[in-house]
Amino acid sequence: MVDRKCAGCGNIKNRDELIKITRQNPHGNIVINPNSKIFGRSVYLCYNHACIENAFKKNKISKILKASVPDDLKGKLLNEF
Ligand SMILES: [Zn+2]
Repeated sequence: MVDRKCAGCGNIKNRDELIKITRQNPHGNIVINPNSKIFGRSVYLCYNHACIENAFKKNKISKILKASVPDDLKGKLLNEF
């Protein structure tokens, strides 16, 4: 069991219960819920809109990934989850 922290609410949950967003090495593409073959700095969020909104409001995603986040990422997450 692998525990990760949600960037929206700060709760610790199992990896399977969280959305994973990874900045893919070496190109720096931001990918949502990558498979285990994709490596890179990652950020985790609960599957709910409050945590997604909260993480973007506090700029947590770009801070944790140390990268600028594409403008459409938030919309994609809110649509998908
Ligand atoms: Zn959360």
